[in-house]
Amino acid sequence: MIESSPRATKIVATLGPASNTPEMIERLILAGVNVVRVNFSHGTVEEHTETIRHVREISTRLNRDIGVLADLQGPKIRIGKFADGKVQLASGDRFTFDIECETGDEKHVGLDYPDLVNDVNPGDTLLLNDGRLTMRVERVGPTTIECTVLVGGTLSNRKGINRQGGGLSAPALTSKDMDDIRTACKLEADFLAVSFPKNAADMYMARELMRAAGGKALTIAKIERFEAIGNLEEILRASDGIMVARGDLAVEVGDAAVPALQKTMIKLAKNLNKLTITATQMMESMIESPVPTRAEVSDVANAVLDGTDAVMLSAETAAGKYPVETVESMARVCVEADRHHTTAFDSEFLNRTFTRVDQSVALSALWVALRLKVKAIVSLTESGSTALWMSRIDSGVPIYALTPGAAGRRRMSLFREVHPLSLQAHSADREKVLLEAEMRVLEAGVVARGDLIVMTIGEPIGKAGGTNTMKIVKVGDTH
Ligand code: PEP
Repeated sequence: MIESSPRATKIVATLGPASNTPEMIERLILAGVNVVRVNFSHGTVEEHTETIRHVREISTRLNRDIGVLADLQGPKIRIGKFADGKVQLASGDRFTFDIECETGDEKHVGLDYPDLVNDVNPGDTLLLNDGRLTMRVERVGPTTIECTVLVGGTLSNRKGINRQGGGLSAPALTSKDMDDIRTACKLEADFLAVSFPKNAADMYMARELMRAAGGKALTIAKIERFEAIGNLEEILRASDGIMVARGDLAVEVGDAAVPALQKTMIKLAKNLNKLTITATQMMESMIESPVPTRAEVSDVANAVLDGTDAVMLSAETAAGKYPVETVESMARVCVEADRHHTTAFDSEFLNRTFTRVDQSVALSALWVALRLKVKAIVSLTESGSTALWMSRIDSGVPIYALTPGAAGRRRMSLFREVHPLSLQAHSADREKVLLEAEMRVLEAGVVARGDLIVMTIGEPIGKAGGTNTMKIVKVGDTH
């Protein structure tokens, strides 16, 4: 049974030590998680395999379609380890990154990307630990980068390092990423997030590797490099969606630029029929606190008002003290913000010309649904593309996407305003299938007998092919 006025905006939660037990996974799903994120930057293949196995078992038992997002580490450049796990650095201190250093101290530390010495120049600014510490490059040697600390703080093992303004040469897919793509395919991940892509070619490469390994995941480009902003449209066209990866992006482009970029990215993605996830520090204080700050509540609500498909939790659920409370708070904020999200039937929509039959039916159905004030749209779909078209325009009308395949339903778990429901295996008997669809939405508690719904269908039923039919139905009239 799903709730009668379901949340339009989806929640992605990262699993980690605080949340990857069966008990916690079940609690998180019941609290409202739609997609779990498995972060390949941490943990072993065995741990990820075990986590995904639990997610599949629990979601099947709970009868929920929960997507799995495999997030590749990418070429995140990290410092090495310190003898004591961490050091304290003050502004004015001299500090050296040394690719030959094995164990660090207050003076120097190792690097996992030897080519960084070729990518930086004196005068550059380096940011560590998501920009919490800042250093100016003074001298670059064959194996060393000597810096002055500008903003000090605690620097601990394996923290990330970025160059302000981007320009690092590391390729988007490391050999570990290539292995992880194969693992993600074996584990039947529903979404594959590619870290630090610079251009469309990086995304095509990830997709090709995934297809070669038999994967069918939707690809998500994490926009976190300076260069990716200039190539946003080509990256979007080469992907199924993007993640507004605000952590690394803020470091590369400057934090003040990120809120406006978030809006631009979400708008462009929707216009190109693509998905968006807004990520990082959305409920950061809830790592330690059972309630969010006012600013965090506003941040989540604003992402919803921007029209994001999903909001994402990282350390809050992976390593925080209150994973379940965080998801509950986030869900509450999304539901409230969803209600104030205005319908975007603007002149751009009204003047649109269509290029595809399924798109024409999808957008006509949306129009009728809103004008006729129907309770819901019910879309019988194989690929989910009709549901995707409809969910790119904010109508406020819930879209129930019925499909027999569990993998298709899991992929739609990320689409804003789309609620997947199962349908028995397709039969060629049109009336039987339509009746079953009505029964499913009735059972789900979404509509009552006598309510109007709009249905989209591909006819003839039972034959592969796109959506080409729209039908307005009074629920219960046919039985
Ligand atoms: C980010 O930088 O915002 C992000 C989501 O990346 P990571 O995988 O490092 O959390």
